[in-house]
Amino acid sequence: MQEIFNFHISSLNRDVGKVANFVRMLDMPERISTDGTLDFTKGIIAENISFTYPGRDNFAVKNVSLTIAYGETIAIVGENGAGKSTLVRLLTGIYRPSEGKVTVGGLDTNKIAPKSVYQGISGVFQKYQRYKMTLEENVTISDTDMEIDRARVESALKQADAELDIELDAMLSPEFDGIDLSGGQWQRVAIGRGLYRTSGFIVLDEPTSAIDPIEETQIYEQFQRLAKGKCAVVVTHRLGSAKLAHRIVVMDNGEIVDVGTHDELLTRPGKYADMWAAQSQWYER
Ligand code: ATP
Repeated sequence: MQEIFNFHISSLNRDVGKVANFVRMLDMPERISTDGTLDFTKGIIAENISFTYPGRDNFAVKNVSLTIAYGETIAIVGENGAGKSTLVRLLTGIYRPSEGKVTVGGLDTNKIAPKSVYQGISGVFQKYQRYKMTLEENVTISDTDMEIDRARVESALKQADAELDIELDAMLSPEFDGIDLSGGQWQRVAIGRGLYRTSGFIVLDEPTSAIDPIEETQIYEQFQRLAKGKCAVVVTHRLGSAKLAHRIVVMDNGEIVDVGTHDELLTRPGKYADMWAAQSQWYER
């Protein structure tokens, strides 16, 4: 009895905090914003942006300026906590900069309604959802406006290297009489979901931790081909994948410390050359 009682009291304590946060969010005023249409040929432009998380003193992103041209793929690399994911959230309009300005497809993320920005963006993040639905639904849920096209689903899964030898109708949940996938297989399905969505700006923020470095590079090669008519950003710790991008942005402590192609960055001493020296053996077979 004591155990049951303690268990409930502790979860109650935790849940009260969650409910309080939720109610606080509902009470927040709607930001006045306008709708607009994205034109990705104008690229993605960040001008002197900085960002601090609430309750933190230091900048997670500090005075960053970056332009991603239409058709360009940028890789963001750096150590844990360097600010890569925060920068991605700023570039996609999920966060708004505390200072500076981000323009996505010609629209200022500070002024525009989020739904206008999200409409043209596809993102696959480190934390992704495993839907207890069929394989097909797990892919097509990213673009529910589009009529389901099985050939497109299969092609997205192929590009994500997720040909799993199971039917598209297979239920991905043992609870509902279906099957479960491994971590790496789930990640591939999540990447397939991101590729399926119609977008002019696509982001992969390290959704490949459970996939080995050489296979990850193969997925990114496919991605690079697919991103030709888009703006694209990949965040990765693994430089074999970053190498494929048109430009590599090196971050440290919230700042951009270097930008260049793989070959250019290797010609100068610095964080990138050090990381490459530590990792190059991953790509030898
Ligand atoms: P990783 O490679 O580990 O994913 P990263 O380069 O993507 O790291 P960020 O996740 O952008 O780095 O984090 C940058 C800084 O912001 C870190 O100091 C981190 O502790 C802090 N941070 C990240 N998310 C939050 C949050 N939700 N609340 C408060 N601080 C955060």
